[in-house]
Amino acid sequence: MTILVSVGTFVFHPLILFSAGMKFSFRNPEDLLIKENIMKNQKYIISILIAGILMVGVSDRIQAKGDDQKAGTVKPAQAKQLLVEGNARFVSGKSIHPRQNADRRSELTNSQHPFAIVLGCADSRTGPEIIFDQGLGDLFVVREAGNVIDDHTIGGIEYAVEHVHVKLVVVLGHQRCGAIAAARDTAGADGHIKSLLVTIQPAVNATKGQDAEATCKAHVQNMVHALQTSEPVLKKLVQSGEIKIVGAYYSLETGAVSFLEE
Ligand SMILES: [Zn+2]
Repeated sequence: MTILVSVGTFVFHPLILFSAGMKFSFRNPEDLLIKENIMKNQKYIISILIAGILMVGVSDRIQAKGDDQKAGTVKPAQAKQLLVEGNARFVSGKSIHPRQNADRRSELTNSQHPFAIVLGCADSRTGPEIIFDQGLGDLFVVREAGNVIDDHTIGGIEYAVEHVHVKLVVVLGHQRCGAIAAARDTAGADGHIKSLLVTIQPAVNATKGQDAEATCKAHVQNMVHALQTSEPVLKKLVQSGEIKIVGAYYSLETGAVSFLEE
């Protein structure tokens, strides 16, 4: 918007000069010189107008992309592609931190239209908006240590799917997850942490003799399967193809998110 206003100022400035120039009659050399300057101004005006029109075109396209997301029509494959592209920017150190300004905040005061749900770990190194290079209102994030599901997390996901019309759910595990390590530790854990480990235990049992990465990925797949078969809401939406639920694994070392085989 600031740029367009600036362009407007530049456009009108020579127009004012041009209008003033029309008062001269061009009968003497001085007037001819003024006429020549006005001709130059005309070329200047035309160039600026063309640039302005092009900029308006670009602005319209950006707006159109936003409108697509608002309509809640971002399909699972398209949503996944947006995440892949954002993560690639993050990995290469070229994050653009999109839609994190006051304009975006204002746009979202009465509604939200995120294009993906991420069920991630509470680990402080795995913030989805950061590793997928997204902004305000882009992701519906549910986080729990060890990215485990329970009635509360499923309830949050059901809400986002049914009422916010999000089409893609990503269960995101990560390298060196403390919850996975604790579940693999035969000594177990005290307090309420134990309830997290019970949910991870089947993956530990299934990956005996393998490393923590294998356990984490197996656990992610278990959570994907549990969500895909969750009744009464998610199962029917998965079966009808309305939504997709996929697993992914985040590397702390490279920053890369790899989507697991479906
Ligand atoms: Zn973790």
